[in-house]
Amino acid sequence: MSTTPTPAFPGGTILGYPRIGRRRELKKAVESFWAGRTDAVDLEVTAGTLRRETARRLVDLGLNPDDGSVPGAFSYYDQVLDVVALLGAVPERFRDLLDEEDGSLELDGYFTVARGRGEDAPLEMTKWFDTNYHYLVPEISETTPVSFADHRVVREYAEAKEAGVTTRPVLVGPVTFLALSKAADEAGDGFHPLDRLDDVVAAYADLLRALAAVGVPWVQLDEPALVTDSLDVPAERLHDAVRSAYRALATDLATGTDDTDDTDDTDDERPAILVTAPFGGLHDDALALLAASDVDAIAIDLVKGAVPAGPVPGLEGKTLVAGVIDGHNVWRADLAARLDVVGSLRPLGAGALAVGTSTSLLHVPHDVEDEVFAEPSAGAGTTLDPRLRDWLAFADQKVGEVATLARGLAEGRDAVADALAASSAAVASRATAAGVVVPAVRDRAAALTAADFARGPYAERASAQAARLNLPALPTTTIGSFPQTPEIRKARAAWTKGELPDADYSAAMRAEIGRVVTLQEELGLDVLVHGEPERNDMVQYFAEHLDGFAVTANGWVQSYGSRCVRPPILWGDVQRPAPITVEWSAYTASLTEKPVKGMLTGPVTILAWSFVRDDQPLGDTANQVGLALRDEIADLEAAGIGIVQVDEPALRELLPLRRADQPAYLDWSVGSFRLATSGVEPATQVHTHLCYSEFGEVIGAIDGLDADVTSVEAARSRMEIVPELADAGYSRGIGPGVYDIHSPRVPSADEVTELLQLAVKSIDPALVWVNPDCGLKTRRYAEVEPALAHLVAAAREARATL
Ligand code: GLN
Ligand code: ZN
Repeated sequence: MSTTPTPAFPGGTILGYPRIGRRRELKKAVESFWAGRTDAVDLEVTAGTLRRETARRLVDLGLNPDDGSVPGAFSYYDQVLDVVALLGAVPERFRDLLDEEDGSLELDGYFTVARGRGEDAPLEMTKWFDTNYHYLVPEISETTPVSFADHRVVREYAEAKEAGVTTRPVLVGPVTFLALSKAADEAGDGFHPLDRLDDVVAAYADLLRALAAVGVPWVQLDEPALVTDSLDVPAERLHDAVRSAYRALATDLATGTDDTDDTDDTDDERPAILVTAPFGGLHDDALALLAASDVDAIAIDLVKGAVPAGPVPGLEGKTLVAGVIDGHNVWRADLAARLDVVGSLRPLGAGALAVGTSTSLLHVPHDVEDEVFAEPSAGAGTTLDPRLRDWLAFADQKVGEVATLARGLAEGRDAVADALAASSAAVASRATAAGVVVPAVRDRAAALTAADFARGPYAERASAQAARLNLPALPTTTIGSFPQTPEIRKARAAWTKGELPDADYSAAMRAEIGRVVTLQEELGLDVLVHGEPERNDMVQYFAEHLDGFAVTANGWVQSYGSRCVRPPILWGDVQRPAPITVEWSAYTASLTEKPVKGMLTGPVTILAWSFVRDDQPLGDTANQVGLALRDEIADLEAAGIGIVQVDEPALRELLPLRRADQPAYLDWSVGSFRLATSGVEPATQVHTHLCYSEFGEVIGAIDGLDADVTSVEAARSRMEIVPELADAGYSRGIGPGVYDIHSPRVPSADEVTELLQLAVKSIDPALVWVNPDCGLKTRRYAEVEPALAHLVAAAREARATL
């Protein structure tokens, strides 16, 4: 066994960096490969260039090229899928894709597992901790193949090395990988993927040997499972898994690389190991466990998590990486204050301290310098207020912040005094800038009382609404959007670029609304919508119309696979300078005798899909958005709109990872929705829409929203949610989706009837609405028209049998 000493951990590092490319090069390359316009070699060349450019850029920004500071954190699609590929651990339906010799997956097969093929469904996708990134859920059983099958990590290390950068390979750790996996269909009763821990760890051990053999100094294993308690695995089981995994990886293998000798004795060697715990405070006992293990460095999140109490036995031989730069939000840090936090780790007794980001930078855009800064009056939607240049830090700026802090830690504050002062000044200027604090907004929020969050009794509302709306039993409606046709997109793009005059754009949208209204009348729907043709995105649209938000030009963040989003930046107090949707809804109502439903996005969803300010509690920000929406709803009501829907598809998304934090979250999130919606008359009907069929911990909150009608996804789960909601005491209007809009399939009237029968069996039929699962914007008219016709036919038939 080698006796090579553990290499020193870098003084400063980041846990990961965006992979998609500053101009979304990877997205474009991957999508053109999928479309068959390029081949795997082309894709690998583009990806290789991107990886090398990233590595060199990180060095230019201040990371050390030689000591493993630069993370090797690339992925063609998803980092969890990468571990599936590493292990060859694909579900049965995809086994034919594995190489017969070594069990590895070609690039083509890799994407097939991600995207499905014919009848073979892809891996399911779900949210990565508390981010808007979605990973693929591995399916593991007793018989899933597990070996060190794919050597991409080793190749990518060699590629960077050749370009002059010694990277630190980054992988999802074995415990988190299995904790996030689900049992495959063929697994026996009681099987949990963690039952395969020994096999998975053995494969990781082989990988570590291979990395040691090519001279890798450090490897990073991400174990965010250790910061949450809402996985379906008890804490003790996770901790046992950590103990056993890191005994096998860190204790049973010795650090060393074959740089020092070229005899073939690398069998039991490994790189030094960094274990990270992003997205929250590491459980105390998990920190103790890792400290007691033989891993070489531990990174903790000091943005979401608190400074742990010390001393922690075992840390004396390890580096503690202080995650003080926020990897999950876009604000420039007060570096002096952050350096204090690093210093406050001293009592823990670590052998060395280093500076890092709290999470991978995957969750922020590349570079503030890619934005266009101009006075708001300049018109175009995607210019940023010049003051924001000084307040923001995207990935590249954060690398600079880490480098400054690392230098301050190593050489003392004086060495970086200017940079510390500049950052403190920037943060201070934000605190007092016009628009960040708007006294009128503050005064209004301060004057709120319990009455502003409550409507009158439901029974009264229900009878007033019945009298006003005069709807049949089992009323039919849609969730809001109609197909976004190429013509709509073209008109919007031309208008945004300034190539289409306002009047022409408005005429095009009105014409589209007219078509959608006519279609709905012909179909016989009871409550009509305008179809949302004017909205690019359900959050960005509102961000563009509210004070306090900015919209970026190039601030793309990977959402899943090749999909990227450009979250708005919520930087100041929120106000509504003018009505937003009223003109469109009023125009719609002028075209029909039927009731028209106004359509808004709720406060929680607006926050969840934006970068939010970090200088006040999220609940305060939510109430500001709630008040702006309350004004919009009042104006809709005044314009004669009798039904308003406030969508909250992200209500469950923002649920904190720690159960102890969940009640407070549900309190303010539900509160902000009620603040938005409770200013209306009893006769005005409030709808909400939630995009999922499993409510879990939020089921009580659904009732708490106090909406008159709640529409939910329900077609795939065959109305399961209806009895669950009834059991939880929900007894207002409910629209369980009877048309699965996530599939191009057109349901027959019989299928819809069957689902409706299931629904009315488990809840009072007087409460049931008939609608699709979600908005129709991603579907084509060729599917939507027959599907809605069947939906209306089924509702009419069911009415007759009530
Ligand atoms: N009203 C929105 C639409 O129909 C709702 C979208 C959503 O729930 N994600 O598109
Ligand atoms: Zn939806």
